[in-house]
Amino acid sequence: MSSLPRVQARIGQRTLLLTTAALPLTGWTIHAIALHRRLAATKRDPLTGLLRRDSYTARARRLLARHGDNLTVVMVDIDHFKRINDGMGHATGDAVLAALGARLTSWAVPSAAVGRLGGDEFAVVLRLNPARRAHRLEQLVRRLHAPVTLDDGRTIDVAASVGAATPDVIGVRDLSTLQRAADAALYDGKHSGRAVLATSRHATVPSINGRRAGRPGTAVWGRAG
Ligand code: GH3
Ligand code: MG
Repeated sequence: MSSLPRVQARIGQRTLLLTTAALPLTGWTIHAIALHRRLAATKRDPLTGLLRRDSYTARARRLLARHGDNLTVVMVDIDHFKRINDGMGHATGDAVLAALGARLTSWAVPSAAVGRLGGDEFAVVLRLNPARRAHRLEQLVRRLHAPVTLDDGRTIDVAASVGAATPDVIGVRDLSTLQRAADAALYDGKHSGRAVLATSRHATVPSINGRRAGRPGTAVWGRAG
């Protein structure tokens, strides 16, 4: 046997060995990727692609522990959403939820926790430079008030209310307290077209669901002012 076919045979054996060894590895890799994708999917709300409440809460708490005072907790609730469902159907309501969820994601920074808490209620925890906070909240309100264009070309007028709370004002880094304050601020400015930043008094508003219980002194930003 000349040396060339011998070298070719050896290379062929090695390739066969490598391929045999790599096959199970490839199988495991595909399996691991599929598992990872399935796990990631369970963390997300299928309609909007945002984090579900539990995953959002875990991520938001991690952010608060790490970055604390530089964070802002933002609560969002769509205005008169029932009217959209009742007047145009549940599928149209779903399209509005998906569109506003996408707007929240594009507004927030990539490291933010963006979640759908349920129904037409959303929350975002993100780093906002205090000097630009008012501007960024104004920007969010503007984006949430842009009409939604459906697949068939029809457009729907939408609006959403926004409340925000920050550890430096509220005096704690606890997510539940900050969300309660942001929620109270949101309901303080409900249907007004303005974002409301919670004061320390919003954190102590006694109410059912932290809502609709008084109008403490507020800072507001938005379309109307
Ligand atoms: P407000 O202006 O005071 O916020 O009132 P609203 O009409 O927006 O009503 P509210 O926030 O109290 O209720 C939200 C509604 O969202 C109630 C429920 O029928 C509807 N909803 C909850 N989940 C879904 C969903 O996944 N898809 C659709 N299309 N509607 C939903
Ligand atoms: Mg609503």
